Amino acid sequence: MKAHFIEQQASRDLARRLLVRHLRVGPTVSLTGLSELEVRGFYRAIHGKGAVAGQYPLSYSLARSRPGQIKVSLFVWFYRVIGKEQVFRKVDPDALIKAYDFFHETTSQVFMAELNLTDAWVLARDMVTRSITIEECRVCRLHYAQIEYALVPPGCPFCVMRLRKRVTRTNATRVMAR
Ligand SMILES: [Zn+2]
Repeated sequence: MKAHFIEQQASRDLARRLLVRHLRVGPTVSLTGLSELEVRGFYRAIHGKGAVAGQYPLSYSLARSRPGQIKVSLFVWFYRVIGKEQVFRKVDPDALIKAYDFFHETTSQVFMAELNLTDAWVLARDMVTRSITIEECRVCRLHYAQIEYALVPPGCPFCVMRLRKRVTRTNATRVMAR
């Protein structure tokens, strides 16, 4: 009975940590095992209004361009480093929160690359089903996310962006030499 109570408290604490970061109700229910009714009540208590409804984003819609793929790649890599191999077996809520906070404290400020916690959860879930894989680039050796049905062609986004920059620079030099 006591163990059950402690478990319930831990689940409620986790729900609170997820909901203050604006995770939506469905993923919070799935990560905590609490009832939808209880999670909706927490959401209302924290945010002062009812939870939003509607579809979740799809991983490939978060990476419609190479910069988008870099954003996803950086988040996925932070999460993988923090959560270790476990992240390919199930979504790890503690690692998800840590990776999300780290992303917000660093990357999103530098690149203005927004990613909310529901987006982050979608990515983490798709790593378990392997519709997102982490590849190591043979050229630059960085790790990047390869997303099933992505709108960008397969390949390393870091190398593509670097090549684009080089082409722009070369063209600029040519114009200046005229
Ligand atoms: Zn590369």
